Amino acid sequence: MTAPPDLPIRDDLRGTTAYGAPQLDVPYALNTNENPYPPSERLVRALGAAVMDVAGTLNRYPDRDAVALRAELAAFLNADTPGAGLTGGDVWAANGSNEVIQQILQAFGGPGRTALGFEPSYSMHPVITRVSGTRWVNAHRDADFGLEAGRAIAAVEEHRPDVVFLTSPNNPTGTALPLESIEAVLKVAPGMVVVDEAYAEFRRAGTPSALTLLPGNPRLIVTRTMSKAFALAGARLGYLAADPAVIGALLLVRLPYHLSAVTQAVARTALAHAGELLAGVEAVRRERDDLVGWLRGRGHAVADSDANFVLFGTFPDRRRVWEALLARGVLIREVGPPEWLRVSVGAPAEMAAFRAALSEVQAEVRAGGPSGAVPGTPAEDAVNAAQEESS
Ligand SMILES: *Cc1c(COP(=O)(O)O)cnc(C)c1O
Repeated sequence: MTAPPDLPIRDDLRGTTAYGAPQLDVPYALNTNENPYPPSERLVRALGAAVMDVAGTLNRYPDRDAVALRAELAAFLNADTPGAGLTGGDVWAANGSNEVIQQILQAFGGPGRTALGFEPSYSMHPVITRVSGTRWVNAHRDADFGLEAGRAIAAVEEHRPDVVFLTSPNNPTGTALPLESIEAVLKVAPGMVVVDEAYAEFRRAGTPSALTLLPGNPRLIVTRTMSKAFALAGARLGYLAADPAVIGALLLVRLPYHLSAVTQAVARTALAHAGELLAGVEAVRRERDDLVGWLRGRGHAVADSDANFVLFGTFPDRRRVWEALLARGVLIREVGPPEWLRVSVGAPAEMAAFRAALSEVQAEVRAGGPSGAVPGTPAEDAVNAAQEESS
C-alpha cells in the first residue's frame, strides 16, 4: 500500500511501498527463516517467570543501557567465537537487528551520505538506508554470489561510501564471505563497515566470524540477532559488537529506554538457556545440507548455504512455481535474482512436505499442465491475498 497522494509525506517516501513479506496462515511457512522449533515447556515456564519478576516494576523505566543483558550477550559471543574477548562495553542491543542497523545509519549515514551494499542481499539494508535519508548505492556480488576481494575493493574505491554493508552468511543466497574479502574492505573503506551476521550460528564448521577481526578495526561493526538461530523472532532482540566508541556514537541517536524491561528479561532468560535453544541449530544444519543435496540431485542450481535457508533455481517463471507451492500449503519466498526462489529450512516434516510439493509442481510444469492453483479453493484465495500484499 502506498500513501494517498494528498498526504504531505516526505518527497523521498512518495510512491514507495511498505515491507510486505506475506504473513499467511498456511500449514508450512518456510518464508521468513525462523527457527522451526518453539520454546520447550521448561523454557516457556522460565520466560513466564522472568516476565512475572519484572511485571511488578513496570511503573519504572527499564535499565536504559541494558547493562546486564549486554554483558551476557558478550559472554555468548565469546563462547561462539573463541578469542573474541568481548565485554558488555563492546556490545549494543536494540529491538531486532533492524533497529540496530537503523541506529547505525542514523549515527553514520544521513543526508549527503552514502551506504553501499553488494546485491543480491538483504532487502532491508537499502530500505533502512533510504528512510534514514542516506543515499543507497548498489554493487554486485560475483556470479556464484560470493564477493572476491578485488571486486569489493573496486566498488568501495569507486563510491567512497560512509557505510558499507557486507552480509555473511548472505540473505537470500546463504553464501558466507571469506575473511579476506572483509579485511580488504576494511583496508580501503573510508567509513564504517557493517558485517550483518544474522545467520552466523548456522555457518558450517570452519567458517570464521568477522568478530575475530574486531581487535584493531575500530570501524568494524558486527551485527547479530536472536530472531533466527536463537528461535526468538517474536521477542525482537538484535545486537552488535564493535569498539566502545561506536557504541558511544549510537547512544546519541537511540531513543531513551528503547529496550523494554520485558524484552531485556526475556532475552536474558533465553541466553541462560542458550544451549537448549541452539541444540536445534545442529538439526537445522543437517536438514539444510540434506536439502541442498536433494535439490542438486534433481538438477537444480543451488547456492552453497551457511544459513538456515536455501536459494535454488532456476525457473523461467518462478512466480508460477511459488504459487503452485502455496496452493499446496507451502509458503516460500519469491526473492533474490529473478529465476531463483528461497526456502527456509524447517523441521523434518515441513521439509518432507516441501519436497513432495515441489516434486508435484515440477512434474506438472514439465507436462505443461495447470500450475496447481485450483480456482475458488482457499489456497487460491491465499495466493491472491499474497499478491495483493506484496504488490
Ligand atoms: C532476518 C535478518 C535480520 C534481522 O532481523 P531482526 O529480526 O530485526 O533481528 C537482519 N539481517 C538479515 C540479513 C536478516 O536476514
